Amino acid sequence: MESFFGFTLPGLEKAIGATGKEKYRARQLYRWIYNQGVFDFDGMSNIPKGLRAIFKDMFSTDLLPIKEALTSKDGSKKFAFSAEDGHIIESIVMPEKDRNTLCISTQIGCRMGCRFCVTGRMGFKRNLTVHEIVGQVVAVKEDLKKGSGERITNIVLMGMGEPMDNLDNVMAALDIIRNPLGLDFSYRRITVSSVGLVEGLKTLEPKSAVIAISLNAADDGKRTSIMPINRLYSIGKIMQFVKGFKLPNRARITFEYVLLRGFNDSLDDAKRLAELLTGVKCKINLIPYNESPYIEFKTPEPASVERFQSYLLDRHFTTIIRDSRGRDICGGCGQLGMRYL
Ligand code: SF4
Repeated sequence: MESFFGFTLPGLEKAIGATGKEKYRARQLYRWIYNQGVFDFDGMSNIPKGLRAIFKDMFSTDLLPIKEALTSKDGSKKFAFSAEDGHIIESIVMPEKDRNTLCISTQIGCRMGCRFCVTGRMGFKRNLTVHEIVGQVVAVKEDLKKGSGERITNIVLMGMGEPMDNLDNVMAALDIIRNPLGLDFSYRRITVSSVGLVEGLKTLEPKSAVIAISLNAADDGKRTSIMPINRLYSIGKIMQFVKGFKLPNRARITFEYVLLRGFNDSLDDAKRLAELLTGVKCKINLIPYNESPYIEFKTPEPASVERFQSYLLDRHFTTIIRDSRGRDICGGCGQLGMRYL
C-alpha cells in the first residue's frame, strides 16, 4: 500500500483514474485529508462506502511515527521520526512572536560535506521520499493541533540534506505543500535553502519558494575550505545564477552566512561580502555558529557579530542575526543528526 502523502494531486487523479473511478475523488480526498485533517476514510461522508473501502486498500494515511520529541527552553520542539528502514528523520518547529517556522529535512545525512555541519559529518545515507518530506509537515501540524493548538506558518527546507540534491522528490513535495487543496502554503512562506546547486535552482519557478543560498564566505578559497562543493559551484557561478533569476515583485534572494570565530567573521570578511552583493536584491541572514563536540569551529564573539552586521547595515543591506533556536536539544543550525551519530 502506498502512502497518501506521496501523491501530488495530478498523480492521485491518475492513480484513481487507473482504477476506473472518477478523478474528482482525488480532490475530495485532498480536502478531507489536508484541509480537514480527517485521516480515516470512514469519516469521509461524501464518498460512497464501497469507494472508501477501495481507497483504504490503496492508500495509507498513517502519520510518520514520532520516535522522540524534545522541547527546548526557548519553546522550539524537535521531532525525530522513524522511517520504515530504521533511519531517523528530523524536523524542528520554532515558535516566534508572529510565526511558527517548521524546518524539515530532505535527505538522511548529506553528501555536501560542509565542514561546520554535523549532518555533513554523517555522510549521505539516502534521499527522503516525497511522503517522508510531506509527512513531516503533516505530522508536526497534527502534533501542534493536539498540543498548543498553534499552526505552522512558515516552512524552511533547511534540515538534514541538500534539497537540490533530491530534486524530483523535493519538487513534488513542494507541489503538495503549496496546493490550495493540499497543505496550502503560499510560496512566500516556504524557503528552500541550498549550497548553490544551480542546475536544480534553475528549475525552480519564481513562485515555487523563496530561495536561500548558504554562502558562508565571500571568496572562493575560504568557501572551498569549508564547503567542498564550491569547487563545482563557485561563488561566480552562484552569482551568475542569482543575477539571472527572475524574482517575483518585491522578492529577494536570501544569503545565509554562518559566522565562525576567527575564520569568516572579520571586518575584511564583511567588506568582501558587501562588495560581492552590491547591486543584488537580497537579504542577509547572519547565523552565529552553534558549537558542537564533533566540529572544531567556535561560536563568534558577540562583538564581532555586531560589528559584522553594522558594517552591512551601514551599506543598506537588510541584515538579520538569526536567533539560534533549540541549542539545548541539538536543533540549532547544523546540529540535526547529532544525537544519532
Ligand atoms: Fe548538507 Fe546543509 Fe550540512 Fe552542508 S550545511 S553538509 S548542505 S546539511
